[in-house]
Amino acid sequence: MTDTDTLTAQAPVPKDWIMAIAPYVPGKSKTDDGRSVIKLSSNENPFGTSETARAAFASAAQCLERYPDSAAVELRETLAAHYDLDPTRITCGTGSDEVLHMAAGAFAGPGDEIIYVRYGFTVYPIATRRVGATPVVAPDKDYATDVDAILARVTERTRVVFVANPNNPTGTYTARSEIARLHAALPRHVLLVLDQAYAEYLDPEDDDGGLELARTAPNVLVTRTFSKIFGLASARVGWGYASAEVIDAMNRIRQPFSFSIGAGQAAVAALKDKGFVERSRAHNKQWLAHFESEINALGNKGLRAVPSKANFSLVLFEGETSAETAYKALMDHGYIVRWLPGQDLPHGLRITIGAPEEMTGLIAALRKIVGAEV
Ligand SMILES: *Cc1c(COP(=O)(O)O)cnc(C)c1O
Repeated sequence: MTDTDTLTAQAPVPKDWIMAIAPYVPGKSKTDDGRSVIKLSSNENPFGTSETARAAFASAAQCLERYPDSAAVELRETLAAHYDLDPTRITCGTGSDEVLHMAAGAFAGPGDEIIYVRYGFTVYPIATRRVGATPVVAPDKDYATDVDAILARVTERTRVVFVANPNNPTGTYTARSEIARLHAALPRHVLLVLDQAYAEYLDPEDDDGGLELARTAPNVLVTRTFSKIFGLASARVGWGYASAEVIDAMNRIRQPFSFSIGAGQAAVAALKDKGFVERSRAHNKQWLAHFESEINALGNKGLRAVPSKANFSLVLFEGETSAETAYKALMDHGYIVRWLPGQDLPHGLRITIGAPEEMTGLIAALRKIVGAEV
């Protein structure tokens, strides 16, 4: 035997459910040939972040040698005051991604099932397989969440249902009445995780009632993030709200120290800067509507925007120009968007709503690419 054979023969064997994970593919920030271009591939805030949040993060450079507060007391109390919640029922994580992993980890394992929708958020299959649970995929209804399809797949083995609202990468929204219907029909042993990463982009009347459900129901977890409207994707701060019992179970597997002191202070400051959030929401509302109408005006070229309530639009290419062709051509024009063949959407591009000049430039480029009159 050669050395390599010996090494392989003795190598540690990963669990087969781990090897079944398709690794997460992040949005690109550079073209394939290394050029920096306008990045509309990761749903980041085009306005950056709140200046007070930036200052809070910078001043925390004074305490780099200290461990952060494991219990995140100041952040939980600020969140509780802001959203009128019980601070003892909030858990914080390294991005809401960690909170999603904690939900799967605390409530499911080998032999259990976790349901999510086709075209759901790509962290759900990873969180499911990581704990050895079985993924159960519910078909969509024209790219949106289909409550009946989810309910039809509930079994005695179901432990968790993940629903993002609005959903990523489709941007689709599930109405409050549908969320209520889903919750009412779920057995109480099933944890309903309502992933509200884009909730702050919704108009107040579009509140899906998740936090209200989580206040009283024993089996609802709402997750939120500072990565999207608050513009703190790099800080990695997310949180969840559920019953004391659900939070207690999740806290047992939480990383003892997650986001840094600076990240936590930036989150506190960002929450208090209501002007920044309001400007971001107003901008998104205006430019999302404009973008969708520009895309739908290219219907004769086979383009269609899936109706979105998030800070991005899923554009479908069902005509002569393929999504792949458009993706590559947009890169040549200086725009990186997200092409989604790995998510069963080879005919889709997910495009983040950027600054006005970025959107105008991207629309002009896209018109040229599909051969529309300019
Ligand atoms: C971006 C996003 C998240 C949050 O990610 P973080 O880990 O908080 O940065 C969660 N769910 C969905 C659906 C998202 O799009």
